[in-house]
Amino acid sequence: MSKATKLIHSIPVDPLTGAISVPIYQTSTFVQEAPGENMGYDYARSNNPTRAVLEKVIAELEEGSAGYAFASGLAAIDAVVKLLKSGDEILAVDDIYGGAFRLFTHVYQKFGITVNYVDTTNADNVAEAITSRTKLVWLETPTNPTLKISDIKAIAAIAHSNGALLCVDNTFASPALQQPILLGADIVVHSATKYLGGHSDLIAGLVVTKTKEVGDEIKFIQNASGAILSPHDSWLVIRGIETLHLRVAEHSRNALAVAKFLQQHPAIDTVYYPGLYDHHNHIIAAAQQSAGGGVVSFTLKAGTTAAAKTVVCSTKYFKLAESLGGVKSLLCHPATMTHKSIPADKRRAAGVADSLIRLSVGLEDVSDLINDLESALNIAVSAHRLAEELVEIN
Ligand SMILES: *Cc1c(COP(=O)(O)O)cnc(C)c1O
Repeated sequence: MSKATKLIHSIPVDPLTGAISVPIYQTSTFVQEAPGENMGYDYARSNNPTRAVLEKVIAELEEGSAGYAFASGLAAIDAVVKLLKSGDEILAVDDIYGGAFRLFTHVYQKFGITVNYVDTTNADNVAEAITSRTKLVWLETPTNPTLKISDIKAIAAIAHSNGALLCVDNTFASPALQQPILLGADIVVHSATKYLGGHSDLIAGLVVTKTKEVGDEIKFIQNASGAILSPHDSWLVIRGIETLHLRVAEHSRNALAVAKFLQQHPAIDTVYYPGLYDHHNHIIAAAQQSAGGGVVSFTLKAGTTAAAKTVVCSTKYFKLAESLGGVKSLLCHPATMTHKSIPADKRRAAGVADSLIRLSVGLEDVSDLINDLESALNIAVSAHRLAEELVEIN
């Protein structure tokens, strides 16, 4: 069975009525025949039939044994951290999603869980930094916003020889492009807010585990902590997943064309995209991803926040907003938006330069997107030249 057929038919027809669309069970509780005698459902925090379909679908797509749906990507990440106990250490990619950094550092360190951030683009750095206290290795690949790539297979081997679990945040690639469990990961998390939902209309998170044992622990935490996904949002994610392969393939095609356009534009300094041959870890990306994905970042030769702000305020189709993975193209300026809470020196050291711009390339016609960027870049170039001339006059 091809991947597309598997994806579409992993979403079941309703066994009760034959409904081809998964029914939304908008209920809090389930009537029982006698105490403890029920049809597999008792209370909707513990289990809901609509959520159960999504959980089974994502487990199949990621080739894991169990899946769990949460109220946000961060709630999913939070559930994974709760596998740990005081004294344990997380070894995490240094260019980690800002919200995960905030959760690890500002919530969990005070409970005695330590976090060590390393540059995981070189697996040797992981081998050097891992200790007997490391119980969880945390990767994002590609990362946000500089699209760093880490070798999942190599790092899984290092984690396992040290008795640690490997968790991969697979939000940027999605299971359409990359399946970390097949490469050795023990846990996969998603912000389903992005490509899985795919329409910028919900907040959701997912966890998939390779083994049933780790899955049972996540299930216990999901029910005990209670950050579950609602039936309606579960349905929206299922509907998004129906077209995941089509969307992600087209996002990737458009993004590659945009990245190539940017590379040859005279106003651009560096383009970050794993699908480009000169990406730092292009060979690893090509081995573990079937395409580059829909996010492209770049810096400007002008190098300033002001120049970047001119660009992000001058596009017509790329809308200025945080988030990514939707049908409409978005762009953002990480230094003053998603990453503004990180001190400037730390932010720059992590590669988030003042002029860095992140694109979430959407599903519009790619020539319109390229024209849109070209005209915004030209506006920025003339504004910058004008500013330089004014300085000279003064
Ligand atoms: C957005 C995002 C998250 C957080 O997900 P929410 O749904 O916003 O809570 C986690 N990881 C990555 C890589 C993300 O892009």
